[in-house]
Amino acid sequence: MASRSDNEVDVEVLVIGAGVVGIYALYRAIEAGFTARTLEAGDDVGGVWYWNRYPAARFDSESYTYGYLFSKELFDDWKWEEEFATQPEIERYLNHVVDRFDLRRHIQTGQRVVSARWDDDGNRWEVTTGTGETVRARWVISATGGLSVPHYPEIEGLEDFQGEGHHTGAWPHEPLDFAGKRVAIIGNGPSGGQILPAISDIAAQVDLYQRTPTWTTPLNNAPMTEEKRAWLSENFDQVVQTLTQSPTGFMHPPAGKFSTDDTPEQRQAFYEQIWKAPGFGKLTSNYYDMTTNREVNLEFCDFLANKIRSIVADPVTAERLIPTDHLFGAKRPPFIAGYFESFNKPNVSLISLRQTPFVRVDATGIETTEGHRDYDIIVYATGFDFGTGALTRMGVVGRDGLDLSTDWEDGPSDFAGFSAHRLPNFFFPGGPHGAGGGNYPRYSQDQIDWISDTLVYAREHGFDRFEPTAEHEEAWMTMVATLAPLSIFSAEHSHYYGANVVGKPRKFLLNPGGRGKLHEMLGEMTATESFGGALASSDERVGV
Ligand code: NAP
Repeated sequence: MASRSDNEVDVEVLVIGAGVVGIYALYRAIEAGFTARTLEAGDDVGGVWYWNRYPAARFDSESYTYGYLFSKELFDDWKWEEEFATQPEIERYLNHVVDRFDLRRHIQTGQRVVSARWDDDGNRWEVTTGTGETVRARWVISATGGLSVPHYPEIEGLEDFQGEGHHTGAWPHEPLDFAGKRVAIIGNGPSGGQILPAISDIAAQVDLYQRTPTWTTPLNNAPMTEEKRAWLSENFDQVVQTLTQSPTGFMHPPAGKFSTDDTPEQRQAFYEQIWKAPGFGKLTSNYYDMTTNREVNLEFCDFLANKIRSIVADPVTAERLIPTDHLFGAKRPPFIAGYFESFNKPNVSLISLRQTPFVRVDATGIETTEGHRDYDIIVYATGFDFGTGALTRMGVVGRDGLDLSTDWEDGPSDFAGFSAHRLPNFFFPGGPHGAGGGNYPRYSQDQIDWISDTLVYAREHGFDRFEPTAEHEEAWMTMVATLAPLSIFSAEHSHYYGANVVGKPRKFLLNPGGRGKLHEMLGEMTATESFGGALASSDERVGV
């Protein structure tokens, strides 16, 4: 039996996480007139851009396409220094947003959520942090990120190492001095790849431990010019429209042609052009059929392999750096300046774990089947428990005992990548099946906009409960299962399938239908006043 007083809440909207997504969710909640608060585990705002402060961490989406688009004044007054900004500037930008829109007073830092339990009678969440703080909230927006739980490699003796060992996603705040140090980098994804050129001129020795080679291509960064800033400002509406409508959330011009429109010679010339394209332009401005036509993708891979051979002086190292198990784009490619060039430096070595696997880490360094090497610093650039990592560790228990830590053991089940049946009033933008293959903040902006609009709609129509039905969830998961094999990120040994974490089920964790399917299926849901039964009023249940 519930009474109205049992329904009281401390805040209407509780946001968990003050990263790119959480800051926007808080902004929208306050703007809409809700009482709102944010709990953030870190000691400051920034999310991934607070934790991943390793050397040369930077965007590989263009700065102005990654930042917020909700305010032209903000867009104009933040003067990005580079096309692809570095972590310190990004962190400053996020702090600037928080201050400019007076959000900081709603954010409690140093508050890691350890439990979130749904109170069905009270129609509210009870959320508790590690410090014992409890917040009762009508709505929870868990903006806890898909890349927020560091994954350490499963190597014997990791804890025995007496030097400095740091994961890229939990980097120390005090600057780490690499000068004259012997350094091991484990992992060569976007994070490990960014660190290598950044420290190879400073450290005495850098060994990169590579399990799977990557199709890394140059970032092609440039300083932002006044002309570019002026153009962006003058064309703000067009920029917003492009970024909001583009399937990938970028502004890169499309190739406008299929590979078959060009002769083999013209294709080689086009690949040279693509090699010089900025960031993800190598995918988004490439031939329309680059990710669907295996033959043309193989041809492009040959082109890239020859680029690697032309850059890396030692032929054995060059061959080891060339991927043989996936096509270009099948895994999320890194975009990094000077990556392959680093291997020409006398103090840089590539250690192929395929040839010489790990044996153990010990007090002084790393042993592989090749022998033992001493290190002062080990960098774990080994990625994250992608998609589900944070949500399954937060003690989330929904209706009828739905417990994310166990119910998602076989893989997550959700609707629209941000909500789930039996998780009333709980949204997790940026969660599993949330992002498509492109610019993350643009996908999460879609999600936050929809969630915020739904909360306003619910308030206006007397609803205080949102829970997708089992049918909504089943339809979304059927879409995911049907389209996953067609996704460009089809390499099953990547973190997009959970394959980097031992014991994690191999399930596709992106939204393979992209923004198109997201909007289509959200549109179907919102076609009726009660969103197909997802919206309800707890009034009808009081006293029941
Ligand atoms: P990642 O792409 O998952 O790469 C992890 C690396 O560690 C891979 O090379 C992986 O090898 C290796 N690894 C994992 N476990 C290992 C083990 N037990 N033994 C040996 N090697 C192991 O992680 P990330 O580089 O941190 O990037 C993660 C995501 O963060 C990216 O997809 C991207 O979305 C984002 N990111 C973005 C930027 C940017 O915007 N500029 C920068 C950094 C990261 P295998 O390939 O064999 O598994």
